[in-house]
Amino acid sequence: MKAYKTEIRLSPRQVDKLARTIGVCRFLYNAFISHNQDLYEKEATFCGGMDFDKHVNHVLSVEHPWIKEVSSKARKKAIMNADNAFKRFFKGQSKFPRFKKKKDQDVKAYFPKNNKTDLVVERHRIKVPTLGWVSLKEKGYIPAGSEVSSCTVEQKAGRFYISILVKSDATEPKPNLSSEGIGIDVGLKSFAVTSDGKVFKNINKSRRIKNLEKKLKREQRSLSRKYDYYQKIKKMKKKENPGETENQWKNLNQNIRRLQKLHVRLANMRDAYQDYVIRESVKTKPSFITLESLNVKGMMKNRHLSKAVADQKFYQFKIKLKSKCLKLGIELREVGHFYPSSKLCSSCGEQKISLSLSERVFHCSSCGHTMDRDENAAINLKNAKEYTILT
Ligand SMILES: [Zn+2]
Repeated sequence: MKAYKTEIRLSPRQVDKLARTIGVCRFLYNAFISHNQDLYEKEATFCGGMDFDKHVNHVLSVEHPWIKEVSSKARKKAIMNADNAFKRFFKGQSKFPRFKKKKDQDVKAYFPKNNKTDLVVERHRIKVPTLGWVSLKEKGYIPAGSEVSSCTVEQKAGRFYISILVKSDATEPKPNLSSEGIGIDVGLKSFAVTSDGKVFKNINKSRRIKNLEKKLKREQRSLSRKYDYYQKIKKMKKKENPGETENQWKNLNQNIRRLQKLHVRLANMRDAYQDYVIRESVKTKPSFITLESLNVKGMMKNRHLSKAVADQKFYQFKIKLKSKCLKLGIELREVGHFYPSSKLCSSCGEQKISLSLSERVFHCSSCGHTMDRDENAAINLKNAKEYTILT
């Protein structure tokens, strides 16, 4: 099975339907918790998910008929999620289940396949039970004609995402790889430089990202100012004017929403860029790819670098690259960070005693070889003889 998660576009009517489904799921999840809290206090017993589902069908849905607007399978899934949360608690694996709040947005709507035409995938859209045809933002990402048995839809910072499981074709042909391998040197100046001379710039230095970061800082500052101010006002005015704070909290929530949106946008841009770097790197179908194991922890200790390092998401890059390599049959090698990849001459093998970070061009005093520092390092990585295989 292969998992896909991708953004979808919903019409206002679909948004409304989804909100109802999510609302009912949240209600049932919370009802399960409070029902069991009561039971425990009164009789010290526990009502399992299956029994609670019957209780919902026979009692709760009579009191609240809107529960029945949502498919019975979706309702059951929400209850069983709560049941699982309790099971983990009983096993000591997690804390007592918490009520889901509207603002947390961590309730997902589950849509099982009910009939043959449900969950049909086309290049640009997918048919979700209850919601109908839904357009996919990234066309062709989910292979058309995929066999899907269920999906979940979630909302995050005003955007909607669908997750599905697809039966993956194990016999998918692997491409013929060339005999050459490549080395990739990742860093802060450029995000990545490959031994075959490709340079991928650090997008965190781009104007677009910098502007978004500035916006983000502004929103954060205004949020914390508002928050402090409202806290003060709340204490002073609560007795005199209870209505006023209500409005101000709404204002605060809008600010939080804007902040969430910015965070998601930045993360999406960084994600998309990494995908692009990986696609371009494997274009020549190398037989292996060598990376240097980065001492990220050590780099994070440097106060001046830690944000820059965190923004590059090197670890995520490695995970993504690994999954791509596994898919294409490329061997992914990792060289320990004590290997002097930047100090070696890629032409004659002479090792420099010292090399300062400011020297952007590598110059070999022994053979006169001159090359970009990062490209030289990438070639040394490619030629490394000692490595661990990650794939
Ligand atoms: Zn040399």
